[in-house]
Amino acid sequence: MTIDLRSDTVTKPSRGMLEAMMSAPVGDDVFNEDPTVLALEEKTARLFDKEAALFGPSGTMTNQIAIKCHTQPGDELICDVNSHIYNYEGGGISFNSGVQAKLVTGDRGRITTRHIEDSINADYDWLTKTTLVSLENTVNRAGGSCYDLATMKNIKQFCKEKQLALHLDGARVFNAIAENSYSAADIGNQFDSVSICLSKGLGAPVGSLLLGTKDLIKKARRLRKVFGGGMRQAGFLAAAGIYALDYNLERLKDDHVKAKVLGNELSKLPYVESVMPVDTNIVIFNLTDKYTAVSFEAALQPYDIKLAAFGKQTIRFVTHLDFTDEMLAKVVEVLRKL
Ligand SMILES: *Cc1c(COP(=O)(O)O)cnc(C)c1O
Repeated sequence: MTIDLRSDTVTKPSRGMLEAMMSAPVGDDVFNEDPTVLALEEKTARLFDKEAALFGPSGTMTNQIAIKCHTQPGDELICDVNSHIYNYEGGGISFNSGVQAKLVTGDRGRITTRHIEDSINADYDWLTKTTLVSLENTVNRAGGSCYDLATMKNIKQFCKEKQLALHLDGARVFNAIAENSYSAADIGNQFDSVSICLSKGLGAPVGSLLLGTKDLIKKARRLRKVFGGGMRQAGFLAAAGIYALDYNLERLKDDHVKAKVLGNELSKLPYVESVMPVDTNIVIFNLTDKYTAVSFEAALQPYDIKLAAFGKQTIRFVTHLDFTDEMLAKVVEVLRKL
């Protein structure tokens, strides 16, 4: 039994999901006539109270399209130093949009209006033009931390006053929604654009969406083609996304409970120096000198437990819908005897 805690992207489609995929009506989505893609776009737009949505092959692409939509080459965007758009998208901010990032250090990836205020450039010819702010919720690199609604509302108001566009990298926003008292519509109402992933905790094999106004999505559709993301009978994939939204949202809390159990266990072990607060489905912890990330990975290998080395002495576990109670019990047992 392989236990894969490297990421919530490792899940495989369930039988029900596969059946939904195989029976999906499809058409050519570049001609905008795949009924299942159109249904998924409409479903997510409605869920987040946005006018329109665009299906894409990855969260990286939907983030990068959003950045390109909101900026001109030579502009600057503001984001936290831990952001996925900055760290894990291959330098796409500069490569795809010719934009530079002003990095700020928030509280475990969460920034406030204060950070933005301190980072906006004044309107001089020689200063870089600040045009976009990008938030992430939950924050992957900061252990799945969540924004509260009041902070997002403040940032929205502030960006409106300063005429800055506001984007959300919501690859794991459904985890944040499951853990907080806000809804998808509350999220949609705070941002000019939202990118969501169906291939993380929701268990679809592929798929992300960008949400926004009709005008923004029209522009995004053209950019998706330019970026090589126009797909043909993509309805087979969109069907997996519809299934994921219908069946796999409610259960996200189970992943959070399992992550908390792991965090608790780890905090009691002598070879664990510290565990980041566990807010959703991500557990990040630091090892004492007994292990490096590499030797810890090697120690778990005989038990067929996989993890992500997140730094020299830092490990990340991510819980997901293919990580069962039985697997959790096994991991706890192994961790205790190391
Ligand atoms: C996974 C992830 C993405 C998108 O990743 P893809 O693998 O390109 O779908 C974007 N942002 C965050 C925070 C992520 O964790």
